[in-house]
Amino acid sequence: MSQGSPLRSCVACRSVKSKPELIRFVRLAGGKVSIDLRGRAPGRGAYLCRDPACWALARKRRTLDRALHVTVAADDWSAWGSGIL
Ligand SMILES: [Zn+2]
Repeated sequence: MSQGSPLRSCVACRSVKSKPELIRFVRLAGGKVSIDLRGRAPGRGAYLCRDPACWALARKRRTLDRALHVTVAADDWSAWGSGIL
């Protein structure tokens, strides 16, 4: 059971998926949050499905904020939504 991609869970819907199916967010120094497209940036990370419904849920319930211990700015959500989904 040691083969295959590592599994991570979406902070919105809690489903467990392999890393390539999820988008990683990472907390940068200074408390800003960035999308980590390569999935390898250092720092605390959290994952969301590539699904607008999960992004909306995470934004509404602040599950990403809680997972990363930050407040995600509304501007960041807008920028991410138009760039990735
Ligand atoms: Zn999800």
